Amino acid sequence: MSKNVVNFNAGPATLPRPALERAQAELLDFAGTGISVLEHSHRGKDYEALHDHTISLLRKLMGIGDDYHVLFMQGGATAQFALLPMNVLRPGESADYVVTGSWSKKALSEGKPYGTLRVAATTEEGGSFKRIPKQDEIDLDANARYVHITTNNTIMGTQWHWLPETGDVPLVADMSSDILSTPIDVSKFDLIYAGAQKNIGPAGVTIVIVKKSFLDGANTNVAKVFQYAEVAKANSLLNTIPTFGVYLVRNVLEYLDERGGVPAMAEHNRSKAALLYDAIDENSTYFACPVAKEDRSLMNPVFRLPTEELEAKMIAEATEAGFIGIKGHRSVGGLRVSMYNAMTLEGVQRFVDWMKEFARANPV
Ligand SMILES: *Cc1c(COP(=O)(O)O)cnc(C)c1O
Repeated sequence: MSKNVVNFNAGPATLPRPALERAQAELLDFAGTGISVLEHSHRGKDYEALHDHTISLLRKLMGIGDDYHVLFMQGGATAQFALLPMNVLRPGESADYVVTGSWSKKALSEGKPYGTLRVAATTEEGGSFKRIPKQDEIDLDANARYVHITTNNTIMGTQWHWLPETGDVPLVADMSSDILSTPIDVSKFDLIYAGAQKNIGPAGVTIVIVKKSFLDGANTNVAKVFQYAEVAKANSLLNTIPTFGVYLVRNVLEYLDERGGVPAMAEHNRSKAALLYDAIDENSTYFACPVAKEDRSLMNPVFRLPTEELEAKMIAEATEAGFIGIKGHRSVGGLRVSMYNAMTLEGVQRFVDWMKEFARANPV
């Protein structure tokens, strides 16, 4: 993000400026080797040291135990929608999905060719998703192979602020848009996946954190490059990996670590979200947040204005003022202000001031 632009894009999203500056400074000569990280063999010791360090940073930041594999894969979260059931659902087994938005719906539809997937709960009421279900609305099958949730609904602007009780059934989560944003107890999950391009780094790297025991008895009739156990066995170096993507993930993780890690990010994220939601709630005849208050996302606040004309005007004028990416997803309309870890408090403060001014200048 350059100094004059505040980038609220939903993903790929803004990255910490120091992580980008470091990449710029190191681009031509990686770690004193005289060549760019882009030019290193993924099998060489210099890349390997970076690779292992990046994995250990993620383990440290998230408190991932030795009973978990940390994998780098490709294909984004979308590939995981299929790879998850492909790997772990055996003939006759089924899995439960809690459907809270467009991405969980897609996880369900992309996974269906690989097994029986049940909808344990959905909050698609009247065609839109405005909340997270309550525990007693979730109809869990005690024999399910896993329960899938989407921890932050990037498009809908809702987020799980608690975890469902699933008994002995393994919990699996798509954390693409809130991984590393707030402390989580990894041991509560058997598998976590996330595309990097929202909170971790650039597009092209997908993180998979999987409990080793979750892969016991997993399917082996899966091509190796798509098989969690094989990718783990090869330390995610089964084939050529997006090395530069991993390098940028390293820069972002080191930056987070220096800034106090995930607890510091959580505080930072709460402060930013409070600024924006307070501005909305203080002028509730003008701004309206369409989702349940207790389920509001700290990462992707969404809101509406009194008319679609005003929304279009606000988006156009915001862009001119240097606030980019505030148009809501095409499927829901309205506005969306994505504020992942890398978004600065100052960026949100500037936008909130501008937004209040817009409301004053454009009364209804
Ligand atoms: C962006 C996003 C996806 C899709 O990610 P790709 O990397 O494009 O496949 C899936 N789930 C969630 C929650 C997302 O935010």
